[in-house]
Amino acid sequence: MPSTLDLDLGHGMTARWRYHLGDTPTGIVLTEPFCSGYRCRDEATLMPGGPCEGSVLFDTPAMAARFPQHKLWTVESLDPLTLAEAIRCGHHGCKTVGYIIDGKWEPQE
Ligand SMILES: [Zn+2]
Ligand SMILES: [Zn+2]
Repeated sequence: MPSTLDLDLGHGMTARWRYHLGDTPTGIVLTEPFCSGYRCRDEATLMPGGPCEGSVLFDTPAMAARFPQHKLWTVESLDPLTLAEAIRCGHHGCKTVGYIIDGKWEPQE
């Protein structure tokens, strides 16, 4: 059973567990602190570079049945969290891409 605490992934990235189907995490909400998407504005400066959140859903048979239209990520390890596929923001032009490996954000150059 992984920690119920939020995940500090490093590089400013954080995540919260999501539970769609009971007590086992079935996804995370990933927060990017300085998204470069042009609509993700910093509230103080109103310039691009504000925080944004993205949903990552885990690939299990039950999740695939519940979310047939969604991209799902293969979980290699839940604790510490390791996902097989890259996560890309792609939000209004943001080019952030990385992996979650051993509970840490690994940016892809
Ligand atoms: Zn972004
Ligand atoms: Zn964004």
